[in-house]
Amino acid sequence: MKFVSQGFTCTSCGKCCTSRFEIPVEHDKAAQIKQTAVYQRCSKEGFEPLPVLAGNHTFLGYNEAGQCLFYHNGLCCLHKEQGGQAKPLICQVYPYNFVNTPDGITVSLLFSCPSVIAGNPDNGEEAKNEISTLLEQERLPVLSQIKNHILVTSWETMEWQSYLRWESRFLEEWNGSSPLQGLLEATASLIESNGTQPASADLLEKTTEAISQFAVSCLVYLEQDVDDESFFSALHNDEKPASHRLEAPLPQFSLLTPHSQIEREALTRYVRNQVEGRLLLIGPSLVCRLLLCTTALSILLYDLNVMRERDGTRHFDFHHLQQAFATCEERLVSQSNDLEPYLLEMEEYLFGSVSY
Ligand code: SF4
Ligand code: SF4
Repeated sequence: MKFVSQGFTCTSCGKCCTSRFEIPVEHDKAAQIKQTAVYQRCSKEGFEPLPVLAGNHTFLGYNEAGQCLFYHNGLCCLHKEQGGQAKPLICQVYPYNFVNTPDGITVSLLFSCPSVIAGNPDNGEEAKNEISTLLEQERLPVLSQIKNHILVTSWETMEWQSYLRWESRFLEEWNGSSPLQGLLEATASLIESNGTQPASADLLEKTTEAISQFAVSCLVYLEQDVDDESFFSALHNDEKPASHRLEAPLPQFSLLTPHSQIEREALTRYVRNQVEGRLLLIGPSLVCRLLLCTTALSILLYDLNVMRERDGTRHFDFHHLQQAFATCEERLVSQSNDLEPYLLEMEEYLFGSVSY
């Protein structure tokens, strides 16, 4: 088992229990939870803390404010009543994320947790021991299985060992002061030469344009209750349409660089976590995942800029960073199914642009 080399300490902020995350509950765990006093009290009050959705899958239920029905006064009542093991597995291991690779399980972190974004120091061996115990008991929720052949594009593969060489090169060459540029160069180089040569200026330019256009479409996708076509055209024509999401007018989109050292470090930790955690290998292809990650981070930097302008703040604001990561992680990267057809289309278009 390999842990990505960065810290996490739970600050009990409660975000993971109050954000309406879709948390599945194992069948036997649901039966145990139904015996607890807190479940029975919620049921008597007319709530359903364990709704059965999507066929016969049980999930945690939420109140109107998006709080888990077991969350009370800043505490998990299941944990308080019966200990940590009474909680669903996902709650026990959050914000750790597991990918099963040909070299074993890789453990990364989810940037939906504010403490992970802040890069709080590691809680040492404790989490590692708990995760190792779950692994021994075969109870670890391993979400993704990576095979020996990595899909570079949706039609081209790379052997696992070649992928590992690409990964080391990428991490060695990583330049935190211009993260979008680094991701764009890596993506174009993968499309053109399987990552063995630097990308040509022509393909780099086309990839940059494609990302910018896709990011504008994503800005429309992220809004609610707007007329998509007129919002899209207002954004294109720099008419500064009003965003409900950011409560501010949206300026013309552009690819930005981090504004401060703290932003730079947070983005570097995020990208390293994606790469070392093998999260780029989930999804239709490595190129598609890089395109998604680049788009999400381009929106993150754009959002930070909009929020700075909105609030007239010159300096770094952690709440801005937290809100921008929530959009990046929870609405784009983790919910990529909706965006997959567009990513595949972009991949095909860019591959078709390569002149051999
Ligand atoms: S979001 Fe992170 S820091 Fe906050 S309670 Fe959950 S695990 Fe702890
Ligand atoms: S079960 Fe407990 S830990 Fe899980 S979301 Fe609900 S309150 Fe939080």
